[in-house]
Amino acid sequence: MKSILRTVLLVSLGACRALSSGGGAVQDSSILQPAEKGRVFRAPALVELVKLDSTIRLDLRYASSNNFMGRPMYGSARAFLQRPAADALVRVHRALRHRGLGLTIFDAYRPWRVTKQFWDETPAAKRAYVADPRRGSIHNRGCAVDLTLCDQRTGKELPMPSPFDDFSLRASPRYGGGTIQERANREILRRAMEAEGFTVNRGEWWHFDYREWREYGILDIPFTAF
Ligand SMILES: [Zn+2]
Repeated sequence: MKSILRTVLLVSLGACRALSSGGGAVQDSSILQPAEKGRVFRAPALVELVKLDSTIRLDLRYASSNNFMGRPMYGSARAFLQRPAADALVRVHRALRHRGLGLTIFDAYRPWRVTKQFWDETPAAKRAYVADPRRGSIHNRGCAVDLTLCDQRTGKELPMPSPFDDFSLRASPRYGGGTIQERANREILRRAMEAEGFTVNRGEWWHFDYREWREYGILDIPFTAF
């Protein structure tokens, strides 16, 4: 698997070099900001979330037209994270069971080329809500996940203060509007994720970064390669 991933990385990045070095991968590419060039990262080890726990629900918006781009951006509806982040997410999902809740995933690993498409097609006034491709997104490193809570039995998503990918202040995890129940749901999700090493994004209640994200480089492996 590792060798397949490394081969795909080489092919998909074109100008990028990926070299083994003490078990890590050195990346050097024109897509990366200067601080990223020459850095040694852990070798990618993306794992599919539902292979670890089949009860994790998927609502992968970028594999459908139900997203801010209005068209499918992924070739398949699958969710991957780097192994330590995936294991932590499974622990969150299982810890929620005693409340009758579970996790529904909106997005996880995202190929760099999709981040670039988001940026290129988002009006300048709204670009605070999408990642600059020169820096890349933590989704590109396989260490960020967008998600919400659902009823464990029915799969119905719990009400939150804003919809996913709401480009307004209502998306902030500190937004004081909405109903008491919506804010309480948001806090249950945040506390459960923080207990396993995830940090919520300052502007998006649904986006969480895993604590080891700096150890992984930006990837552009397309979904068709898995
Ligand atoms: Zn996100």
